[in-house]
Amino acid sequence: MKLDEKFRIKNEEYEKTKKILMIRIKENLIRQIEKHGEKTYPEECCGIMLGKMNGRIHEIEQIVELENTQEENRRRRFLISPDQYMKAEKIATEKKLELLGFYHSHPDHPAIPSAFDTEHALPWFAYIITSVENGKAVRTTAWQLNETRERFDEQELNVKMSDGVFQPSDS
Ligand SMILES: [Zn+2]
Repeated sequence: MKLDEKFRIKNEEYEKTKKILMIRIKENLIRQIEKHGEKTYPEECCGIMLGKMNGRIHEIEQIVELENTQEENRRRRFLISPDQYMKAEKIATEKKLELLGFYHSHPDHPAIPSAFDTEHALPWFAYIITSVENGKAVRTTAWQLNETRERFDEQELNVKMSDGVFQPSDS
């Protein structure tokens, strides 16, 4: 299947469901994303998030680290290449999970989507951003592009603690 066709189908699915209500993720996966960002600091890290859609609640069950393919200025921007996108879809199919979105780090910048992020994002996916200051992950947030693709809306990120209880990420 061609990439355009995949995007068209994803877009139709998105038209049906519109918005993600909540993103659920296990605490150890958040730590894994943060560790990845600390490892690649001062460059950005990026990866994919796989899981299940429970209606409008998206539950992330696995993350897969990707190479940052941006040739220049890796500190400030990440880019998922079409090859990586296809690879991500392949991994998701193999694992019988949905491709739910992408994560990346912001070295020495807040965990807020940049203009570049907004320009390159796709509206049906979840985006997790972790801010890494001086090599240490300090804040992790979740986002979805709005319907007109003009801006990101922050998403509720519910973190499943080791005792199995979900908590908002900021508590
Ligand atoms: Zn970014």
